[in-house]
Amino acid sequence: MARPWPLHTRILVGMGLGLAAGLAAHLAAPALDGALAVPAAFVGRLVDLVGELFLRALRFVAVPIVLFSLVAGTASLDDVRQLGRIGGRTVAIYLFTTSLAISIGLGLADLVRPGTRVPDALRDRLAASGAAHAGDKLAAASAPDAWRTLAELLPTNPFAALAEGRMLQVVVLSVLLGIALTLIPRERARPVLEAVRGLEAAVLALVHLVMRTAPVAVFCLVARVVADLGLDVLGALLAYTLTVLAGLAAMVLVVYPAALRLFARVSPRRFFRAILPAQLLAFSSSSSSATLPVTMECVEERLGVRRDVTSFVIPLGATVNMDGTALYQGVATLFIAQLYGIHLGLGAQLGIVLTATLASIGTAGVPGVGIVMLVIVLQAAGLPPEAMKGGIAIIFGIDRLLDMCRTVANVTGDCMVAAVVGRAEGALAEPGAPRP
Ligand code: ASP
Repeated sequence: MARPWPLHTRILVGMGLGLAAGLAAHLAAPALDGALAVPAAFVGRLVDLVGELFLRALRFVAVPIVLFSLVAGTASLDDVRQLGRIGGRTVAIYLFTTSLAISIGLGLADLVRPGTRVPDALRDRLAASGAAHAGDKLAAASAPDAWRTLAELLPTNPFAALAEGRMLQVVVLSVLLGIALTLIPRERARPVLEAVRGLEAAVLALVHLVMRTAPVAVFCLVARVVADLGLDVLGALLAYTLTVLAGLAAMVLVVYPAALRLFARVSPRRFFRAILPAQLLAFSSSSSSATLPVTMECVEERLGVRRDVTSFVIPLGATVNMDGTALYQGVATLFIAQLYGIHLGLGAQLGIVLTATLASIGTAGVPGVGIVMLVIVLQAAGLPPEAMKGGIAIIFGIDRLLDMCRTVANVTGDCMVAAVVGRAEGALAEPGAPRP
């Protein structure tokens, strides 16, 4: 029997076919509105259903997998102080890469000045056409309070945290439970740990099952986005779009590989091979939270980072670390300021680095959250309401596409940090060697 294609190849094929089908549906939309309206609507609903079921299945396994693997991982650590060290390293690297990403975004936007390339008349037309969306985003944004986020790390009710899927709280409660299991007599802890490990294996088996449907689901997710995409704004926003994409490419193709070589001694080839399924899924779903179970699986099984490190670093990263989003916010803020002829000097730009880094903590990785957080950054940069509203309206048209790309950078950054922390902890397997 012929060997089946590897998973990432199948997902890529699904993506390519989804692109083609979506484009065909986009071009045929006027014709489909006529006599074929009913069957076309049926197919559209079916495509949405398959995509949604897949994302729901991934969300279904996300909380249990973090809970079980982190409880088991923490309880099996020889020394709880190790956890403090892993945590300190992880958070420090996350904050550093996020601020680096925004700085790269700001630097590129200062250099290219994409906002000066849109004529005023076109700017006002675009702003008017996206005004309704901008209103929604402005209403949804509320400034993050870093002190509150810190206090809320500790859930008052662990069951509520699990039920509502608050990932940072789930991480904290799992670590606490894992530590507690090392404090009670061994014979009492053992059956609990065995059950937790069994449940963990069961949930992983579910992830494998879900991933088998990924090629079809990715087809549906991509086809829907492409069919809906209004690329007419792309021309007007080309300089802006290319600036964001160049920044993301610099992170994913230059900064991360360099960090991997320097600090993890992992070749980029090995790294990208291992995490490709997670990247493809990040692109198709625009959500690092939905991708989480697959990211964990790729980092642990394919890259060879030990389970306790993976189950700590990756869930934390899905909420705290959003390099791609931060970079995009840097570019978008300067783009909007340039569009409205507002000068943001060095002081203001440093303020943007700080606000965007803080804003990225405690915000879950779900589609479109980046543009909502952008409102907060724009507010902090002191942009007048008219420029804020107009600016958000203008970039909204292209946001979905950029969301897909920045989510890839977000997930890749998490995986890079897992490899670096894994190496520092002696928890990263050499290629071909048994896992530590
Ligand atoms: N969709 C992104 C993520 O899930 C967040 C964003 O930039 O909107 O990582």
